Amino acid sequence: MAVKYIPEPFRIKSVEPLRMLTREEREQKIAGAKYNLFGLKSEDCYIDLLTDSGTNAMSLEQWAGIMRGDESYAGASSYYKLIDAGRDIFNYGYIQPVHQGRAAEKVMMPLFLCKGKFAVSNMFFDTTRAHVEIAGAHAIDCVVKTAKDTSLRVPFKGNMDVERLEKIISEHGKENIGLVVMTITNNSAGGQPVSMQNMREVSAICKKYGIPLDIDAARYAENAYFIKRDEHGYRDVPVKDIIREMFGYADMFTMSAKKDTIVNMGGLIGVKDANSPLILKIKANCISYEGFYTYGGLSGRDLEALAIGLYEGIDENYLRYRVGQMEYLASRLDDAGIAYQSPVGGHGVFVDAAVMFPQIPYNEYPGQTLAIELYKEAGIRSCDIGSYMLGNDPDTGEQLRADFEFTRLAIPRRVYTQAHLDIIAEALIEIQARAKQIKRGYRIIWEPPILRHFQAQLEPVSS
Ligand SMILES: *Cc1c(COP(=O)(O)O)cnc(C)c1O
Repeated sequence: MAVKYIPEPFRIKSVEPLRMLTREEREQKIAGAKYNLFGLKSEDCYIDLLTDSGTNAMSLEQWAGIMRGDESYAGASSYYKLIDAGRDIFNYGYIQPVHQGRAAEKVMMPLFLCKGKFAVSNMFFDTTRAHVEIAGAHAIDCVVKTAKDTSLRVPFKGNMDVERLEKIISEHGKENIGLVVMTITNNSAGGQPVSMQNMREVSAICKKYGIPLDIDAARYAENAYFIKRDEHGYRDVPVKDIIREMFGYADMFTMSAKKDTIVNMGGLIGVKDANSPLILKIKANCISYEGFYTYGGLSGRDLEALAIGLYEGIDENYLRYRVGQMEYLASRLDDAGIAYQSPVGGHGVFVDAAVMFPQIPYNEYPGQTLAIELYKEAGIRSCDIGSYMLGNDPDTGEQLRADFEFTRLAIPRRVYTQAHLDIIAEALIEIQARAKQIKRGYRIIWEPPILRHFQAQLEPVSS
C-alpha cells in the first residue's frame, strides 16, 4: 500500500501552464532530438524530471530578496548576508560564492590535484570527476558494497568503504592522494545518504595520513535529514546541529547551491579554517574564472536569494515533505514490483533499468532506453545514470560498464504535486507491462570526448 503523502507546507501563488503533446508528436520530438533528452525543448515535456538542479521553485521571501539584491561590484550587502548565513549554518571561517557547483570544482581541484595524483570519493558526480581529470589526476570511486545491490534495504548506502579507502591510500602512497571527496548525499548511487559515523571514520583516516577532506555538499540538508531519521542518537538533534557536526569533520566544501539551497543558480566554496593559506589561492582563482570574490559570478540578487534559500532548505517541515514525496513515489513502485535503488534517496527515484530490461546489454544503455520510453509514454523527461552517462575509458576509448543502469526521476523542489507523482508511477507501470517487447536499446552515432551524455546523438539498434 502506498505510504501517506505528506501535504505541501506551502500554497501556490504563481502557476506555469503545462502542455501534453500527442504520442505521435512525442515520438517525432524524441527522434528529432537524436534520442538525447537534453536535446528536447522544455515546452515539449509534460513533467520534467531531467534534474533537480536549478529547477526549484523559489519562495515569496526569495522573490522579495531579488528586489533587495545589492548589485555593487565589491562588498555588496547581499554578499555579507550570504556569508553570514554560510558561516552560521556550516560554522566555517570562509565562504566564497561561485556561479554553480562545477565552478567551485574548477577553482578548487587544481589547488590539490595534478598529473600523477589521485582523488578518492564515495562516488564522484560527473562534473566533479571531469574536473579531477581536467586537473590531470585520476578519480577513484570507493562506495560501500551495499550500494551496488539496489534491492538491499539498508540505511546509508552512500557511505565510503573505509577499509578500501585505506587500501587505496597504501597502494598509491599517501603523498599521491591529493584529495578525498565525500559526496553528500551520494548522487550517483541514487541520492543515498552518508552516516555521521562514516564521516567520522573517513575524517580520522584523512587526518592520520594528512590528506585534505572536501565535502561535495550539493544535498547536505537532505543528508542531514536522513541522519536525524535513521542514525542512532540523532532523532532529537536539530538538523542545523547535525550539519555543523558533519562539516566539522571536513576541511572544506564545494557546493552546487542549485539543489538543497533551493535557488535556480549559485554555488559555494567553504573553508573551515579562517586563517588557511588556501583562501588567498581560492580568491585568486575565483577572480580569474568567476569574478571578484564578493560576487563570484553571481548577480547581487542571486546572492540574496541564496542567503535566504540556505535557511529554507534546512527547515525540518520542508525536509519531511520533501523526502516524503520520494517515499510516496517509491511506495507506488513497490506496489507495482518495479525495482529502484532502495531505500529511496533524497532527491529522486532511481529506477533500476537493468532489472526492467534484462535483455538490453549495458552497451545498449538500458537507463537511456527507459528514459526514452518514459518520454514516449507520458511526456516525462528523465535521464540515464548508467553506462551511457559514464562514457568511455579515457586511456583505451572503450565503453565503460557502470555499476548501475539507472533511469533517474529527479524531483524538482516545491514544483510538482501528488497528482504528478501518480502520473509518473502510472507511466512506469505501463512500460513495465510491455518491457519484454522492447528487445534492443540504442547506439551512439556521435559523441564529444568528455561529459558526452549532454550532447551525444543516438539511434535505436534494430533487432
Ligand atoms: C550538481 C552537482 C554538482 C555540480 O554542480 P552544478 O551546479 O551542476 O555545476 C557537483 N556535485 C554533485 C554531487 C552534484 O549533485
